[in-house]
Amino acid sequence: MGHIVVMDDSEAQFALTSWSARLLAELQEALPREVECEWRGTLWVAEDESQLESARARVGSYAARGVAAEVLDATNLAAEEPALRSGLAGGLLVPGDGVVYPPALARWLLDGACRAGAELRQHVTVDSVTSGAITTSGDRIPCGAIINAAGAAAPRLTPGLPIVPRKGHLVITDRYPRLCRHQIVELGYLRSAHTMTASSVAFNVQPRATGQLLIGSSRELVGWDAAVNSTIVGRMLRRATGFVPALARLRAVRTWTGFRPATPDKLPLIGPWSPSPGLWIAAGHEGLGITTALGTGRLIADLMLGRRPPIDPAPFDPTRAMPEGAD
Ligand SMILES: Cc1cc2nc3c(=O)[nH]c(=O)nc-3n(C[C@H](O)[C@H](O)[C@H](O)COP(=O)(O)OP(=O)(O)OC[C@H]3O[C@@H](n4cnc5c(N)ncnc54)[C@H](O)[C@@H]3O)c2cc1C
Repeated sequence: MGHIVVMDDSEAQFALTSWSARLLAELQEALPREVECEWRGTLWVAEDESQLESARARVGSYAARGVAAEVLDATNLAAEEPALRSGLAGGLLVPGDGVVYPPALARWLLDGACRAGAELRQHVTVDSVTSGAITTSGDRIPCGAIINAAGAAAPRLTPGLPIVPRKGHLVITDRYPRLCRHQIVELGYLRSAHTMTASSVAFNVQPRATGQLLIGSSRELVGWDAAVNSTIVGRMLRRATGFVPALARLRAVRTWTGFRPATPDKLPLIGPWSPSPGLWIAAGHEGLGITTALGTGRLIADLMLGRRPPIDPAPFDPTRAMPEGAD
């Protein structure tokens, strides 16, 4: 979805997401318009008093780490987002969160890398990665260092990486500017994101700079089956219209799927892969890989160049012990 979201599940996750969001904000002036970078904030919606209580607890943890956040009662929630149904308990507003259009951001970063001397080879499948070389359809390219950043497919090139594909569906509507102002997410989303169940859906809607609304999201462990599952999409949309009833009247223009690279402890793998000297890993970012892209790039560069990174790299060590049976 291109949601740039500071998450506080663990110290390590907070450090990487907040640092990465800051790195993006520092680039704001340089980003071209196509990146559609907007700092709309996240509005986490509480359905009942117990969720609102958890929102209050999160405000404390955000404040302790220097991130602005505010608890809203039911009246203030309705004032912030009039399209939400009545009867909700309140919410948590994190005004510093943002939105980007990920393909345009990736393109811009790649262009910058190429201007700095990188050579881009597109539409080439890497068949294997060994110490000192990668091979692509018979071509062997010697490399001093290799970074496996193949997302959910990273274990195909580096067997043993604890990453599985976690499928997600998205729906995008025609242009309906002004229906929603913030990225609106139900607080129950955190449960959906953190529990490795076979399938789950949670309400998540994002107003795009184009006036379109991007509606998510689902999580499924179904291997590499990329087909749109109408039952899951139906569950997702019913969940969404349960929060924003007006969504039911809008026209959807596209539905598609993608794969989050999920790890058992919900943290990405960033650093050297010691079983194969010269091989580095930057993969396993589950649902936060757009948010954490810049921090990941900086962290891996610091580690490769022997510089001291601004955040502790240890929790992201690709060879760390993983919780048993978590995947
Ligand atoms: C529905 C959904 C919604 C999401 N929403 C958000 C969000 O709002 N915010 C957020 O921060 N994150 C979000 N994510 C997560 C985010 O998309 C991922 O974490 C991120 O894309 C991972 O980036 P990556 O570069 O590691 O992997 P990928 O984006 O998967 O890129 C890996 C690349 O490697 C290429 N590749 C793989 N194998 C090979 C090979 N053998 N040879 C050559 N190339 C290869 C692939 O083609 C691909 O281009 C979402 C994910 C999904 C599925």
